[in-house]
Amino acid sequence: MSFLREYIILHHTGAEEKNARQVRLNHLRKGWKDIGYNYVIERDGTVVPGRSLELPGAHTRAAGMNYRSIGVALIGNFELTRPTPMQLNSLLSLLKRLQEEHRIPGDRILGHREVPGAKTLCPGRNFPLDKVREGLQEPVRWWRVQVGAFREQARAYRYAEWLRSRGLEAIVVSDGKSN
Ligand SMILES: [Zn+2]
Repeated sequence: MSFLREYIILHHTGAEEKNARQVRLNHLRKGWKDIGYNYVIERDGTVVPGRSLELPGAHTRAAGMNYRSIGVALIGNFELTRPTPMQLNSLLSLLKRLQEEHRIPGDRILGHREVPGAKTLCPGRNFPLDKVREGLQEPVRWWRVQVGAFREQARAYRYAEWLRSRGLEAIVVSDGKSN
């Protein structure tokens, strides 16, 4: 049996777990069939698939969302800390892919606390819900590294590499051309 997923619900895990494996173990210890979320994004931006979409989720009881949505959680407690740039970058790519695969419009991507009837702070006050939704309306935002701003071209490339290592999309631009 499978369920029509019409929404995507965004969560924080609310704790400072090491990785997705630890989140899964915590949920299994509660006697659950599997981790409650469908995807977990670790601090370094790694996206780990969670519970199969063949099963109802275990992340958002309100409004029957466990049957109607895909639950995506970022590791952390964003009442206290912030998602890393790598987490947000991976989240945007994942959301774009899920939106396409499941035909889910941007206004059906909700923070857990935005679900009618949900009584929770999740995904935390530092989770940039509106920024994420805005980011989805734009094509990938590229960081333009101007060669002219560096003494040598090689330094511009090294800077672009560094940006990419931080999970950002970077292109090197010289004289209005990109390469
Ligand atoms: Zn939540």
